[in-house]
Amino acid sequence: MISKIKGTYDILPEESAKWQDVEETIKNVSKLFNFKEIRTPIFEYSELFHRGVGETTDIVKKETYDFEDRGGRVVTLRPEGTAAVVRSVIENKLYASANQPLKLYYQGPMFRYERPQKGRYRQFRQFGAEALGSDSPLIDAEIINFASTLLEALRINDITIKVNSLGDASSKELYKEKLKEYLEPNIHELCPDCNRRYKENPLRVLDCKVDKDSPVLKEAPKPLDFLTEEAKFHFEQVITALDSIGLNYVIDKTLVRGLDYYTHTVFEIDANLESLGAQSTLLGGGRYNNLVESLDGPSVPAVGFAFGMERLLLALESVDKPVAEPFIHCFMIALGVDAQNDALRIVNQLRHGGLICDYDFFNKNLKGKFKQAERLNAMFLLIYGDEEASKNVINVKDTRTGEQEEVPLTNLYRYIVGHINSGGSSCGGNCSSCDEC
Ligand code: ATP
Ligand code: MG
Repeated sequence: MISKIKGTYDILPEESAKWQDVEETIKNVSKLFNFKEIRTPIFEYSELFHRGVGETTDIVKKETYDFEDRGGRVVTLRPEGTAAVVRSVIENKLYASANQPLKLYYQGPMFRYERPQKGRYRQFRQFGAEALGSDSPLIDAEIINFASTLLEALRINDITIKVNSLGDASSKELYKEKLKEYLEPNIHELCPDCNRRYKENPLRVLDCKVDKDSPVLKEAPKPLDFLTEEAKFHFEQVITALDSIGLNYVIDKTLVRGLDYYTHTVFEIDANLESLGAQSTLLGGGRYNNLVESLDGPSVPAVGFAFGMERLLLALESVDKPVAEPFIHCFMIALGVDAQNDALRIVNQLRHGGLICDYDFFNKNLKGKFKQAERLNAMFLLIYGDEEASKNVINVKDTRTGEQEEVPLTNLYRYIVGHINSGGSSCGGNCSSCDEC
């Protein structure tokens, strides 16, 4: 037996409804905030991520799936969405479009060679949003608001929004120097990875997962104390906007995020839920004013976030949300060979009218057909044999009431639609989860 690749998983039919639910909510909330979907390929030239995400980030250093294709091109399965969105914005000159800022969202699989564990996979799905073309602090707040509204729409309410600022490029440079000076005498106390990070990019030491509780890191200088006046003003305005929206947040002076491209605002949202285990961070994001230019585009400021959809689904396990019972509207029970072909046509007509219908493909005996209808949770059984065919009628049994009626074929669709709501509920009285059931 060939098994799936380590760190991947299948979404089986009984779980896919939950995913579709989350995807639907994402789509609806994106619409409310007027973000439009962008879809980019799942692989790109490796250079995009090496330059975009940053050579010294863990993602690029240790986690990318890089390979050479048959034409000798060095390509990478995308580990995140932002670099690819920026590549597409530059290549398609979207930065010049009349509607600014560009408000884009994406969702799809990402690939990182990590140690698989609960909430951490090698192929996982991210949803992300990017706003490009404005350096207004209001759009930083809009992005944070978008992320938190999405969680609220999914009924994930017990969250902590953490915000911080890294400042502009010159604030970051100054801070890096101070951090390096501070770390120099203590660096031997930290893990081997931190010792490497210290040499390559000292900022990355701060998001070490091994040493995150070490006093060396806890007492390290904080980026907020090294902001230029301009950067300080930007951050204050973000905070004012968050207050106006009425969002609850905390300023987390230690937050730096794991990607090199962030400038100014960075943020994370954690959910305080048991089902998430160690991976309590649902999403992260921030402003990246220099990324477009560093990928050979014009100078376009931008801000965005991304979240892992698996972690959202794990979070939803702790949320008390009624799950709709799967059901179908009609199950056709055809009796006899002649009736069978007619029955296929009848079922198809009902489907064209928007009714969910199924059929016995195994030529089971009557008892088997009834069993199958029960398993599928059919609202109506359609019983059709030679006798019904000769009279141009069909027997319809409402499984909710047990009532059975002979209905003229020409009236079947209207009859079913008329009776779906006879339970008085908009779902047909069969879902046991809506307000009426
Ligand atoms: P972490 O600190 O958990 O490794 P990260 O800083 O690497 O996260 P980002 O690159 O900012 O995360 O990605 C944003 C979100 O994507 C994370 O908050 C998380 O929800 C999700 N995510 C990241 N890596 C994985 C993974 N390997 N499996 C599942 N979800 C992931
Ligand atoms: Mg990571």
